[in-house]
Amino acid sequence: MTNKKINRMTREELLLKVKKQELLIEELLAEKEAEVKLDYPLKGNLGHWYWNIQSNDVVFNPMKVEAIGYTMEELPEKIPFSFFTNKLHPDDYDAVMKNMSQHLKGITPVYEVEYRIQAKDGTWKWFYDRGKVTKRAEDGTPLFSAGIVFDVSKQKSKMENLEELTSSLITLVDKDELTGIRNRRAIIRELKTHLIDSAVKEKQLAVSMMDIDDFKQLNDTKGHVFGDYVLKEIAMTLEHTLGKDGIAGRYGGEEFLILLPDTSKDMAETIFNECRVAIETNEFLKLESVTISGGYTFYSQGDYEDVIKEADKKLYQAKSAGKNKITS
Ligand code: GH3
Ligand code: MG
Ligand code: MG
Repeated sequence: MTNKKINRMTREELLLKVKKQELLIEELLAEKEAEVKLDYPLKGNLGHWYWNIQSNDVVFNPMKVEAIGYTMEELPEKIPFSFFTNKLHPDDYDAVMKNMSQHLKGITPVYEVEYRIQAKDGTWKWFYDRGKVTKRAEDGTPLFSAGIVFDVSKQKSKMENLEELTSSLITLVDKDELTGIRNRRAIIRELKTHLIDSAVKEKQLAVSMMDIDDFKQLNDTKGHVFGDYVLKEIAMTLEHTLGKDGIAGRYGGEEFLILLPDTSKDMAETIFNECRVAIETNEFLKLESVTISGGYTFYSQGDYEDVIKEADKKLYQAKSAGKNKITS
């Protein structure tokens, strides 16, 4: 419409014209929204947002405000960008701002983030937000940006539950069912890791194989259930005696593998003997005269199987020498 035509219109005619334009815009937005719903039939879609960067006005689908507990009526007419950013979780704020700033500068092709936003009732909602600058000035200054946002709270909480489940499964997978200490898989993994670590850091690693003395006889006379109690008590005694100095695991039936990272010869001798004495003097175990023998070696070269074989050889020597002994 030319200026001449507008000048000739009365105030009423102009208001009518503006009203018509408003209706048209409303209709177009509704149409766009329907299109968006068809385009993004994913659950949790909260629709489009449009951000006039120059005037700092944000236009968005009512679903986005309703999702955080507000109604369109209670919001000011002009919604600045900060309406949402002020409600961002403090742990997510910097990442969101950095992501947006990099996109505005043209460093990244899109703005894409997940963040928590605080609802009116104080609870946190997870949103997935993706947008793009749709218009830039000739010098690259961003003028207009548009994007789409999803409420992904349900998916996030499902994921958190899965993560918790996974971490408890990992713990279970590494745990010996009977004694509760590391099982064979876990202690061998520790051994492999510490072999590499000791080689890299040029530290000494002492490895011991310990085996309960005459355990078959105890099982035969007292029964396997009693034997199981003895195994549990021994495992607990070993872990308690080692504390932070060592790592223990149940290698097999009545055999335990013990690692002492960064340990001198004297220190290893002392700690392994402390383990032996702790079992010999344990209030419950001494009633049945339960003892343990151990052989140990220091890692010098070869793979983990060579180290175990070497510790086994020393264990055999301890058994031949009369049991209830630690040999190196
Ligand atoms: P040594 O002093 O030479 O080691 O003799 P030992 O009798 O301890 O050795 P042997 O290898 O002859 O017997 C080991 C016994 O350990 C046999 C087996 O029944 C018992 N054992 C292995 N695993 C378990 C378990 O989980 N529970 C119980 N109760 N016994 C077990
Ligand atoms: Mg054995
Ligand atoms: Mg034995």
